[in-house]
Amino acid sequence: MQDWESLDKKYIWHPFTQMEDWLRSETLVIEQGQGSWLIDTNGRRYLDGVSSLWVNVHGHNHNRINEAIKLQIDKIAHSTLLGLAGVPSIELAEKLVQITPAGLTKVFYSDSGSTAVEVALKIAFQYWKNRGRPQKKIFVGLDQAYHGDTIGSVSLGGIDIFHSIFNPLLFKTFAIPTPFPYQSPELEPDELKNKCVENFRRLADERSDEIAALIVEPLVQGAAGMIVHPPGFLKALEQICRDHDILLVCDEVATGFGRTGAMFASQKEPVSPDILCLAKGLTGGYLPLAATLVTDRIFEAFLGPFTDYRTFFHGHSYTGNALACAAANACIDIFEENRVIEKLQPKIGILSELLEKRIATLAHVADIRQCGFMVGIELAETPSKREAYPVEMRMGAQVTQNIRKHGVILRPLGDVVVMMPPLCVTENELEFLVSRTAKSITEICGEN
Ligand SMILES: *Cc1c(COP(=O)(O)O)cnc(C)c1O
Repeated sequence: MQDWESLDKKYIWHPFTQMEDWLRSETLVIEQGQGSWLIDTNGRRYLDGVSSLWVNVHGHNHNRINEAIKLQIDKIAHSTLLGLAGVPSIELAEKLVQITPAGLTKVFYSDSGSTAVEVALKIAFQYWKNRGRPQKKIFVGLDQAYHGDTIGSVSLGGIDIFHSIFNPLLFKTFAIPTPFPYQSPELEPDELKNKCVENFRRLADERSDEIAALIVEPLVQGAAGMIVHPPGFLKALEQICRDHDILLVCDEVATGFGRTGAMFASQKEPVSPDILCLAKGLTGGYLPLAATLVTDRIFEAFLGPFTDYRTFFHGHSYTGNALACAAANACIDIFEENRVIEKLQPKIGILSELLEKRIATLAHVADIRQCGFMVGIELAETPSKREAYPVEMRMGAQVTQNIRKHGVILRPLGDVVVMMPPLCVTENELEFLVSRTAKSITEICGEN
């Protein structure tokens, strides 16, 4: 058998990874997947507790999606959307317009969550320029936001450890505070919500002539550590946007496709975004594809004679890739045919109960945040005082490394242990996931 581990270490630079640590530690090489499980080159099975970084939806090696890709590949794998149209991308656009919040009528494809956001920002910027208000060019984001890793999306990001190095490269934005109840124990969630909303209202009152759009991860800020917003926050932000002629961009790259218990988080509050960004779960976790949806009002501002230069000059080589669109079409069909959202509801309840019973009781668990199938478990040295562990102890990383020997794959965000299983996970698998997580936390953090 090939020594995959040595070859990986010889050739690959892994994302978000201190490679010095990587080169010194044992490498797990995945070869197969089945349902909610990953299988390594030694035949060992691991429950995919973070859906392969939040992308997998209906499970690995899903017959229906496999077949859709096979059918498509015998027709054509890819043709360009520059100057040509393609069948799977047309089918998918129609489905996306049907299932996303009302008012979104046009679909612009790209390849990743970061590019979906990048496209949203450029469209919003040019929209105001085309409308004759070029001074509306500044974006507002939340101060702990994550919108991807390209320069535009990092400009709207607020996670210091990822983003501060690149500060000199970024464009100016306005940040409003993230309503994060765990970090503001002195306030009731509703007071915290109002405080953050008022902050945006003041900014909008003063600077709406310069503000192009507000971009927000609806209901849950994933990469910030699964911060669940107080109810009504998104709705209140939307109202301010409407009152001040500011576009609302919802980044549902993480929350989309059932993750919060609804098809889209913006349908839960509910709000009507002017621009919606989708990626991750769009192809069921099979292939890289992203979509940025916009309203008629935005689309129409780009129409006119060519020499008016209202055209949106943006596009990627693989835009609207046929294989990826075929996978996405199958992924959306499965939601409907298998009534996935309906069947998810009892599983969300079971997951809450398990977290309450097995995790909340542990000595070093300071907070559990859950919205549907998005879960963050905050570890702390002294939970009663919300006193964090020293960073160099890397407790989140230790817990998620240790859990591998119990047959589970997890990834932390600092000292937040993230749990985001595929929607197809069974009751027994949830029980397995939570009990192994409890065991790993106890082994690493101790019982008191
Ligand atoms: C993951 C993520 C992105 C970036 O998506 P990529 O496909 O990794 O570029 C953007 N926004 C949110 C909310 C995300 O969670």
